Amino acid sequence: MSTIGFLGLGNMGGPMALNLVKAGHKVLGFDLSAAASKMSADAGVPVATNATDAVRDADTVITMLPAGKHVLDAYSGSMNLLGVVRPGTLFIDCSTIDIASARAASAAATKAGMLSVDAPVSGGVGGASGATLTFMVGGADEAFAKAKPILEAMGKKIVHCGGAGNGQAAKICNNMVLGISMIGVGEAFVLAKKLGLSEQALFDVASTSSGSCWSLNTYCPVPGPVPTSPANRNYAPGFAVDLMLKDLRLSQEASRASGAATPMGAAASQLFELFAAQGHGGLDFSAIVTFLNGTPGKAP
Ligand code: NAD
Repeated sequence: MSTIGFLGLGNMGGPMALNLVKAGHKVLGFDLSAAASKMSADAGVPVATNATDAVRDADTVITMLPAGKHVLDAYSGSMNLLGVVRPGTLFIDCSTIDIASARAASAAATKAGMLSVDAPVSGGVGGASGATLTFMVGGADEAFAKAKPILEAMGKKIVHCGGAGNGQAAKICNNMVLGISMIGVGEAFVLAKKLGLSEQALFDVASTSSGSCWSLNTYCPVPGPVPTSPANRNYAPGFAVDLMLKDLRLSQEASRASGAATPMGAAASQLFELFAAQGHGGLDFSAIVTFLNGTPGKAP
């Protein structure tokens, strides 16, 4: 069992830390927000009053933070946790962040004599609570081997994607597909309606034909065909527009930096940007169909 310092006890990190406790690890959490700390403490996660105390005796440090600047700040910036822990400590960053920051964090960890992986997740708050997340891991073989049994307490699929930053690369490529495919499915429903084709008929055909995809079959953006999809509960998330937009922006940043042409990803990013600017950033991302049909935020 590991001794784990866990930073970032928010919507994702809170339940993930709790699953580590349930698996028998010795966890000490920390969050800058008193409310998040209290919620985790009430749920059964021991919580420290500062980041240094949370990691001082740890053999593993896990971060689940909003963006690259927070991770770099924790590793080598104002918190300087790399200077607090013993050499050889394993750093696992589960946040979704830009690839450049992920690689900079990994380089700083290596320089300080630590092991590190980037290990962003797919599966959302439900996956975090149910310990069914998918982890996409970037880092050296030795670091991955040490991280895997810890990640298994929080998820059910752990994929080693290559060297530092490749976990983030897998995450943003996957979510770029998701953003684009949800818009494609939404456009099909908008067109079907204009053509007098019912939503159920389109679903029955396309979900078992070549148009079949997760955005249609599992997460259908109109109410009715898939009772569990957010469309049936007024687009309560699920996976919010703001989070999809964050991932699409990261994908476009990476496209520019690497010289990849991703015109559909760029268009998807712009459409979610417009929808969020209308004040719908808190809705589930499948609500983009309501933007496409001209009634933003209201089911078709
Ligand atoms: P959140 O805002 O609920 O939680 C982030 C927490 O980090 C906050 O409680 C904040 O106070 C804390 N924090 C910020 N800086 C800190 C620091 N230096 N030290 C300690 N705590 C600090 O966000 P979330 O939904 O839990 O998402 C966390 C990460 O997971 C993000 O990178 C997000 O993109 C990614 N993610 C989220 C989802 C989702 O469905 N929510 C799904 C996949 C990935």
